[in-house]
Amino acid sequence: MPATQQQLSPNKQFDRVMTTIIHEKEKASKEYFDRLINGGINPIQSNHQITVSPIEQTILSHIQKHIKNYHDYQKKLDENTAVRKQQMKEKYSSLIKTAQTKKDPKEKRRLKAERDEKNGELTIIREQTLKIIEKTIEKYMKDFSIPNLIFPVIIHISIPHKNELIKYIQLEPPDTIATLRKEVSRYMEAKGDSVLSFEKVNIFALVQGEGDPGIPITDDNIPIIEHYNPGPGALFVLQGHLKCAKEAPKICYKVLHPTLEPIVPIDYWTCKNCTLNWLCGACVESCHKGHDVNHFIKQTPTWACCYCQKKKCLIGNNK
Ligand SMILES: [Zn+2]
Ligand SMILES: [Zn+2]
Ligand SMILES: [Zn+2]
Repeated sequence: MPATQQQLSPNKQFDRVMTTIIHEKEKASKEYFDRLINGGINPIQSNHQITVSPIEQTILSHIQKHIKNYHDYQKKLDENTAVRKQQMKEKYSSLIKTAQTKKDPKEKRRLKAERDEKNGELTIIREQTLKIIEKTIEKYMKDFSIPNLIFPVIIHISIPHKNELIKYIQLEPPDTIATLRKEVSRYMEAKGDSVLSFEKVNIFALVQGEGDPGIPITDDNIPIIEHYNPGPGALFVLQGHLKCAKEAPKICYKVLHPTLEPIVPIDYWTCKNCTLNWLCGACVESCHKGHDVNHFIKQTPTWACCYCQKKKCLIGNNK
């Protein structure tokens, strides 16, 4: 499946932003950065091909703000240092002049040494301050990148047993299975068919794309996004019979066939009227109601087996 921008993992998105920034920094002239900092121009739209999503733009504008803060701080520091050095120079040149008038070479030498020492101090303070800022930023960047950026994901939940699909649920980074259950409960309640209980067989399976057999999510307590990395539009299939207030409508085994939960033996039936074997119990009770049916075999199905669809099943998916 070709990766679109939306399908990139959070880490990849972050990496891309960092690559973009590094690229920018490398190629950027001083004027470009000055313009960026002072004018607040769009950092990325200048003269090259990288397109930036709104998400990246948001992150970049935050970083831009930090860069500006840093530049402002350094500028102030440089100005302060320069002003103090100038004041010092003026003060000492007047003192030295006085010593000269008094013909005191010893005092003159002492003043010059003192002036140079204080001048040196100001230089050291400036350098040390810059080092501290550098370390602070380094620490900040580390803290910023270690926990990774995890974004919410839009997902769907399907409940095959109830023939229901709950679309566009926003899954947040801390959300667990409890969140999915809550969504199912809320949805079913709104349908007037409240969930009575979630049983052991009611496992959510994460299915991503066609032909994905799915991953069962068995741990109730781990954050889903971080551990299972569902892509946008991922489907969470609620396995098994869901106990709800209304009696579940009869559904052909073809629809119910579990791909993940343990498969148990089921009864198969024969219909004389339709001349079909391998009919599931649900079909016998609805599609073949009133027909001449007999028990055929008890069998553990290895696939979604029911032959009712050969004569227009009413409760199957007819695939
Ligand atoms: Zn059937
Ligand atoms: Zn029949
Ligand atoms: Zn049927």
